[in-house]
Amino acid sequence: MNRKVRVRFAPSPTGPLHIGGVRTALYNYLFARRHGGDMILRIEDTDSHRFVPGAEAYINEALAWLGIKIDEGVKEGGAYGPYKQSERRDIYREHVKMLLDAGKAYIAFDTPEELEAARAAKPNFQYDASTRMSMRNSLSLPAREVEKLIADGTPYVVRFLIEPGRDVEVNDLLRGKVVINSSILDDKVLYKSADDLPTYHLANIVDDHLMEVSHVIRGEEWLPSAPLHYLLYEAFDWSDTRPEFVHLPLLLKPDGKGKLSKRDGDRLGFPVFPLEWHDPASGAVSTGYRESGYLPEAVINFLALLGWNPGDDSEIMSMDELIEKFSFDHCSRSGAKFAFDKGRWFNHEYLQKMDDAELAELFIPVLKDHGVDTDKFSKEYITRVVSLVKNRINFVADLWDQARFFFVAPTGYSEKDIKKRWKEDTPEIMAELIEQLKALPSFEASEAEPVILAWVADKGYHLGNVMNAFRLTLVGECKGPHIFDITELIGRDETIARIERGINAIKA
Ligand code: GLU
Repeated sequence: MNRKVRVRFAPSPTGPLHIGGVRTALYNYLFARRHGGDMILRIEDTDSHRFVPGAEAYINEALAWLGIKIDEGVKEGGAYGPYKQSERRDIYREHVKMLLDAGKAYIAFDTPEELEAARAAKPNFQYDASTRMSMRNSLSLPAREVEKLIADGTPYVVRFLIEPGRDVEVNDLLRGKVVINSSILDDKVLYKSADDLPTYHLANIVDDHLMEVSHVIRGEEWLPSAPLHYLLYEAFDWSDTRPEFVHLPLLLKPDGKGKLSKRDGDRLGFPVFPLEWHDPASGAVSTGYRESGYLPEAVINFLALLGWNPGDDSEIMSMDELIEKFSFDHCSRSGAKFAFDKGRWFNHEYLQKMDDAELAELFIPVLKDHGVDTDKFSKEYITRVVSLVKNRINFVADLWDQARFFFVAPTGYSEKDIKKRWKEDTPEIMAELIEQLKALPSFEASEAEPVILAWVADKGYHLGNVMNAFRLTLVGECKGPHIFDITELIGRDETIARIERGINAIKA
């Protein structure tokens, strides 16, 4: 069957989108784009008890930040809308009626207490062929009574009538065929009269069918629902256009077995949400990749490789390259360990690829946060600084630690480095160094360096001690880029002022 590729990402707005959900959205997007198909964003909000305000806006913002573009959805519109399930009640009501009329579903009146009692009376109670005739439903009660209960407004649910003893063959593009016997399934609730809303299963199937979804790509946690979904397609007589199914492997804890959880992120120090999330009920704030300084391209690249590989050893890939290479042939069936340090590595790599001037632009707010009056420094100056230290950073915010001394003189000096490098004769040598620096015709690194090195050699000084003491006065500790790059940038006056301050402040 050759049909247009149409995929959907179908989150429930029950909280912030988890990073695993982002990966599901990404794989849907890559597959759709790879095949010139459509990407639908459907909001599955039929569980009114779990609705969380702000969650839908969060999903939109996160996908937009990551560059996952939606073709059809609540905001985008489209020919198959509405794209929010709570706005599709009429459609579901009509489809529930279709199943009832065809005898594929039935109405059940059991109260929560009655269901509780049934469960208490029978271990492993399941509402199915073996028990349904002893419950209160339209199969066990006389038709007149059913009509009366409905007319009286008694709350009811509609259950799917599962025929026992049938083998259901489910196909998954990653896992192949799995046969399960229908006897293990219960008569799932498809609709609840109390809120006039369908359950996930019915709404999900009906919408996938009506929206002409060709591939259902979702997390492994939905695999157990697949046989039921197959039976629903059959009950509606839609098996011929049933989508293909792909259940993506779980994201696992970075350091062990089991599913990745928010607690792992808190414990090991990485975000599990794309954007910061403010819980409307508790007020608790959870960190996001965006606010932690990740670039969206790095997050995308990192996530793409959690459960898929390009079939060669490419690692750094843009969205377009990912689209070009993506296929389920190279998706893994087993869970992917969430190696968050690899995420940091990707961020480092993407920062290296970024234009220095662009990176400087991102550094300016960080400088301001640290009280630097950035108007005092030219754009060229900040750009030069960035070019000198960027290979040492994983995040934009790291630039401060690596480059603060280009903007503010040190206020203290590392004890450890003093012990190691500041000898009794150091103040004298530093005073001589000042004279050398004053006499330099040019302060450019390429001209200053050979002159100073020749002076050190001439005097027979220990090069390491002299240079490190020099560095200590400039930086406050023995780290940073090439020393003559620092002096060239901060300039002669500032260099000499810092050495003088060092001579006065540092005591061996
Ligand atoms: N609403 C479900 C979820 O929150 C959708 C599962 C599916 O893609 O079928 O993940």
